[in-house]
Amino acid sequence: MKILVVEDSPTVRHSLKMSLVPANHTVDFAENGEAALVYLGVNSVDLILMDVEMSGMNGFELARLYRHLHGDDWVPIIFLSGNADDEHILEGIKAGGDAYLNKEASPIHLMAQITAMERIAKMRHQLHSSNRKIEMLLQAAPDGIISISERGIIQSINSAMERISGYRSDELMESPFTLLLPESLRGDYQQDFWRYIRGEEVKLLGMTMELEGQRKNGESYPIELSIGEVNEPDTHLFMVILRDITERKQAGEKLEQAQQELLEANVRLEQLTILDGLTGIANRRYFDISMEREFGVAKRENTTLGLIMCDIDLFKTYNDTLGHVAGDECIKQVAEAIQNSVRRPADVAARYGGEEFAIILPRTALSGALAMAKNIQEAIHEKNIPCATAEVDDRVTVSLGVCCINPEGGDTIPDFIKLADKALYQAKENGRNRIEYVSDKRKGDDDEVAASEGLTM
Ligand code: GH3
Ligand code: MG
Ligand code: MG
Repeated sequence: MKILVVEDSPTVRHSLKMSLVPANHTVDFAENGEAALVYLGVNSVDLILMDVEMSGMNGFELARLYRHLHGDDWVPIIFLSGNADDEHILEGIKAGGDAYLNKEASPIHLMAQITAMERIAKMRHQLHSSNRKIEMLLQAAPDGIISISERGIIQSINSAMERISGYRSDELMESPFTLLLPESLRGDYQQDFWRYIRGEEVKLLGMTMELEGQRKNGESYPIELSIGEVNEPDTHLFMVILRDITERKQAGEKLEQAQQELLEANVRLEQLTILDGLTGIANRRYFDISMEREFGVAKRENTTLGLIMCDIDLFKTYNDTLGHVAGDECIKQVAEAIQNSVRRPADVAARYGGEEFAIILPRTALSGALAMAKNIQEAIHEKNIPCATAEVDDRVTVSLGVCCINPEGGDTIPDFIKLADKALYQAKENGRNRIEYVSDKRKGDDDEVAASEGLTM
């Protein structure tokens, strides 16, 4: 240890040196109180051995002054005095001494005291160094950390708290912690805090809360708050960790937005795969999917499934005469007329290929399907698309083949489509711009309609 001996007697100084140096201590001397103060102003020591009776300032005065000047920096003081009566011992300890020895005491006594003081000094150093480590961590932490008293008053803050809140440390110290919250929340949180202090059941500790904070400039921002409690006999504090989660929130929102966009893109993509590019109605792929589904439903529920195949008449001539662009426009118009004719949600109107369309009509008997075909024919007629040749009509016309079926064990979708195609072919054969149908005789199909000129399966 580095020891300062404050002693005016050369003899005593010499004898102390003789005991301390062999015990591996480094010893410096001051001959009086004033010299000691000067020395301690620039040197740090681990222990002070102090005479009591000295000329000028005595040991007690020196100890008091030294403790006053170096309050935070505790160094053990052992008084060595010729006068070790109770009164002197008491005064010495009150003045700031840690031990009091009679000068006549054996060197072993002195060494024992020094060893005890050394132990305490070591613990103090350890405490000091762990405090410094904690302080360093507090200041380096990216989160705001404050301690608050049980009255809710801020006792300490770290630099992140200053940065996050925009308040200077001196503005926060001794202020209520609710200063960090928006005015609208202050009352509630103060209440919760009081209730907790009073021992009521309030969820305050051991969990992370997300709430709104407010910076000095009035800006509110999202924070995450965790509160811990230090409850010791002489200290009751709450440690609050406050995290600014603005960036995390923004990242979350961006992620959500990206997910939404992805979802929408997927919907658009999905639509692209089921819609026809030219006309915007269902495409062949969607027709196939829908037919598969509805055929199954009709089979299970033993209901009638209707199908209309619809083909623009003499469209090759239309194209050849008016050009492909006009041809495309015509197909779009026809598609629109068909789509607008379809009313039930379960009905599916699709572009089957080229200038041919197919309309699936779930739970529709022949009379209904024929009525629908008629509607389509009229809707196209009303579009009044001028025809290239007046071979059939002066407007663009379509031929329609209708088929209704109650699917049974061996029936297949291709068979069903073939039947509707057969009716369409018949419509073409019979002069175009007309509707033909195939009826399901097995079911004694659609009575009054079946009695007319329809084909039979
Ligand atoms: P029919 O009355 O017997 O059906 O005679 P059609 O001329 O309509 O029949 P055909 O099958 O001979 O001709 C169909 C024409 O439709 C041929 C083809 O160039 C045209 N076509 C098919 N798809 C499109 C398309 O997307 N756009 C245009 N502009 N024409 C198309
Ligand atoms: Mg055609
Ligand atoms: Mg065709």
